[in-house]
Amino acid sequence: MAFEGLTERLQKTFTNLRKKGKVTEADLRDTMREIRLALLEADVNFKVVKQFVKTVRDQAIGSDILDGLNPAQQIVKLVNDELIKMMGTEDAPLNKSPKIPTIIMMSGLQGAGKTTTTGKLALKLKNEQKARPLLIAADVYRPAAIDQLVQVGQQIDVPVYQEGTDVNPVDIVRHGLEQAAENKNDYVFIDTAGRLQIDEKLMQELADIKALAHPDEILLVVDAMTGQNAVNTAEGFNEKLDITGVILTKLDGDTRGGAALSIRSVTGKPIKFVGQGEKMEDLDVFHPDRMASRILGMGDMLTLIEKTQKDFDQKQAAEMTQKIRENTFDFNDFVDQLNQVQNMGPIEDIMKMIPGMANNPAMQNVNVDPKDLEHTKAIVYSMTKAERENPDLLNPSRRRRIAAGSGRPVVEVNRMIKQFNQMKKMMNQMSKGNFNGMEGMLGN
Ligand code: GDP
Repeated sequence: MAFEGLTERLQKTFTNLRKKGKVTEADLRDTMREIRLALLEADVNFKVVKQFVKTVRDQAIGSDILDGLNPAQQIVKLVNDELIKMMGTEDAPLNKSPKIPTIIMMSGLQGAGKTTTTGKLALKLKNEQKARPLLIAADVYRPAAIDQLVQVGQQIDVPVYQEGTDVNPVDIVRHGLEQAAENKNDYVFIDTAGRLQIDEKLMQELADIKALAHPDEILLVVDAMTGQNAVNTAEGFNEKLDITGVILTKLDGDTRGGAALSIRSVTGKPIKFVGQGEKMEDLDVFHPDRMASRILGMGDMLTLIEKTQKDFDQKQAAEMTQKIRENTFDFNDFVDQLNQVQNMGPIEDIMKMIPGMANNPAMQNVNVDPKDLEHTKAIVYSMTKAERENPDLLNPSRRRRIAAGSGRPVVEVNRMIKQFNQMKKMMNQMSKGNFNGMEGMLGN
């Protein structure tokens, strides 16, 4: 997950600062030096770091923060606000043309994730707006690129316009747009060629396609793992093409995250989406404020909530809340919940979005084995209907029978039932507004 190192260093710095009752100018200087090093280590562009540190320091000194209440907290707030500003403050939604089709030109270096991201974005529009996109295969230099786009199209059930590799890409785009007009597609994605590096010929070709298609969006796809190179690429493409936005891919990987923090400041162009996985669903709108919270280790509750809302059946969720309140939550509900959670993705990723969790030492090596969930389910499935509905029936002989039926040891059955009872109690308390149990869980 991106930003782990940065988050850890910033948190350490702030913990040291919080320990001081009074913050002197020397403390502030030390803190700012730590922040500077942390950002540089996260591969943030050095000019951006310099400006960032100066702005925060000037604001802290220029106000009466150091003499006021809770100076450490105020400085964290300044850093948070400045991080948000650095990443663009506002969300940057996709441009939409008043008349159809909206034309989106996708550009980027080879391997950045351009073709995959084209599919992800088309799928997002299809799912969220019932859009009917057409993908145009304009990378004629690598036959594999066209095949790949065709495969992506099949995967998300979106048509792909292609003429193989022997036709001039500008002509392909012209014909593709004619086809889109005929079929009344509302979005057109042009998948352009990529190279290993920026070169003049490629840039000229992209400029020609731009001149013909008048795209509503020219999105540059860059790989977050390439750090400063991603920033340089963005600068290069922007100079030649005047891009309208950036999509940062592979933020799920082991990146230091510096690109996310620098691109906006260096190019003046917004990051619109971030890719966080290889699957077609793994594309999220970029929210500067949420990203700042994540970097500071304050979690990303909003994304978590949205993810939960999207993936959870609303009616079922309402029923569940009712059951928790009435304390009638049983093992059938428990298995339903497990299934839903499993559908949301790796549990360790979800847990890290909870405030305080990302950097909780207890999370460092958490590796939730999907097999454990399967074992838990096997235990529940070995219960009778009556037992599932009424866990109080589970006396020792029933537990032995369940252990034999599920092929799990009795101690595991006992542990699972104990955890279920604890969870049920905690959820019931939380539903009454008592969050003490939860705080304990988060280690605060
Ligand atoms: P292109 O050459 O720019 O068209 O790049 P591709 O779309 O072929 O992607 C290159 C590789 O990056 C593929 O293996 C993709 O699955 C992978 N990829 C793309 N986006 C992401 C992402 O957000 N996260 C991860 N982990 N992999 C990605």
